Amino acid sequence: MGAFEAVRGFFADSAERLDLEAALRDVLSRPQQELVVQVRVPLDDGALAVYDGYRVQYNGARGPYKGGIRFHPQVSLDEVRCFAALMTWKTALLDLPFGGAKGGVQVDPHLLSTPELQRLSRRFMDAVGLLVGPTRDVMAPDVNTDARVMGWMFDEFTRRVGHFPEVITGKPLALGGSLGREAATGRGAVFSLDYLIHREERSAKDTTIAVQGFGNAGSWFARLAHEMGYRIVAVSDSKGAVVNPEGLEPHMVQTHKKETGSVVDFYAGETLECEEIFAVDADVLVPAALSDALVGPNLGFVKARIVLEVANHPVAPDADRALAERGVTVVPDILASAGGVVVSYLEWAQNMQHEQWREKRVNARLKEMMEEATEVVLARAERDDITLRQAAYDIAVERVAEAERSRGFL
Ligand code: NAD
Repeated sequence: MGAFEAVRGFFADSAERLDLEAALRDVLSRPQQELVVQVRVPLDDGALAVYDGYRVQYNGARGPYKGGIRFHPQVSLDEVRCFAALMTWKTALLDLPFGGAKGGVQVDPHLLSTPELQRLSRRFMDAVGLLVGPTRDVMAPDVNTDARVMGWMFDEFTRRVGHFPEVITGKPLALGGSLGREAATGRGAVFSLDYLIHREERSAKDTTIAVQGFGNAGSWFARLAHEMGYRIVAVSDSKGAVVNPEGLEPHMVQTHKKETGSVVDFYAGETLECEEIFAVDADVLVPAALSDALVGPNLGFVKARIVLEVANHPVAPDADRALAERGVTVVPDILASAGGVVVSYLEWAQNMQHEQWREKRVNARLKEMMEEATEVVLARAERDDITLRQAAYDIAVERVAEAERSRGFL
C-alpha cells in the first residue's frame, strides 16, 4: 500500500465514524491541487541536471496551505500527497490557522556542491513560486532542508515579490527566523509524551526510551527528554544502533555523531544493527526517521508499551492495528510531531507583527499548545473508546469539515 493510500485510509475510517456527508468525503480524500515541475539545475561542470519537483496543496479551508520541502532520492508524488494530507490534519488538530501542503525534489542533495544546492533551492522556488505567498502557501524545512536552504528560497521569492518574511518558516534568525524552531519538533514531542506519562501517574525517571533516527527531530527529542529525567537506552541512525540499558548521554552521542558521522561505535554503549533498535527493552519506542519504519515483519520484536510517532507516517496501517490489539499506545504523528509546525506558526505570527520573541516565550507557548492538544486527544479517545490516532483524526477531520461547510465547499 502506498503512503498516501494508508493515510487516506485513516481519514476514511474517521469519515465513517463521523458519518461525514458524501460530498465532503470526496473533497477531503484527495488534494485540492498539485504542481509537478522540472527543476533545472546547472551543475558546476557545465552540465544541466533536471530533477522532478512537487508541491501538493491538500486543503486550505482553515487558512494558507502550510508544509515543508524535502530533498531526498525517494521523494515521489505519492509521498508528497501523503505528507500534505498529514499536514492538513496536523494543523487542524493543533488548531493552527493553516491548511496542509507539502513539497519536495527527488534528488540526493549529498551529491551536490554547496553552489549546486543553492541553485537547486532557488530553481525550485522559482518553479513553484506562483503558488506561494504569506497568505497562500507557507513553506518550511523538512528532511535534508535546513535554515540555510530556507534563506536561499526566501531570497529568491523576495527578489520577485518583495520583502515578506512570512512566506517561509524555519528561516535563519537574521532573516526573521524564530528562536526555538530547530529544536521544536523534538521539544513538542517531549511535551506530549511527558503529559501522557504524568497522566498515567508514572514518572520520567522510571521511563526508558529508544529513539530510531538520531537526526534533527530525534536527537533534539533525545537530548531534551534526557534533560527532563527520562532514560534514553538506545538511539540509531541509518548506519546502526547504539544501546546501553543503564542510559546513554545523548549530548555526548551528538558530539560523537558530529565527529564520526554516525552514532555507531559510541564508546559508552554496544553497537547493533539498525533494525535491532525495535527489539530493545524500552517503555517508549520513538520512530524519528523515515516513513513505514514499523511494518509487519519487525513488529513482533517490539517490547514498548508506547510508540511515539515523531517521524511522519512511521507506522503502517497493519502494524497500527496489530499494536492496538496488543494494547500498545500509539501517539500519532499528527500529534507527536506537531511541534515543528507549531513553532513555524509562531514564527509566521512574529513576522506578521514584526516581532522577535524570546526563546522562553516560544517554548512556553509550544508547551501550552502541545499539552492542550494531547489532553483533547486523550479525552476524546476515552470518551469514544477509540485509539489516540482515531481520536486525533476525528478532531482534525471535524474541524476541517466545519471550515469547508462554513465556506460552502463548492
Ligand atoms: P533528518 O534527516 O535530520 O534525520 C533523519 C535521521 O534518520 C538521520 O539521522 C538518518 O541517519 C536516520 N535514518 C534514516 N534511515 C534510518 C534507518 N533505517 N534506521 C535508523 N535511522 C535512520 O530528518 P528530521 O528532520 O529529523 O526528520 C525525521 C522525521 O521527522 C521525518 O519523518 C520528518 O518528516 C519528521 N518530522 C520532522 C520535522 C522537523 O521539524 N525536522 C517536523 C515534523 C516531522
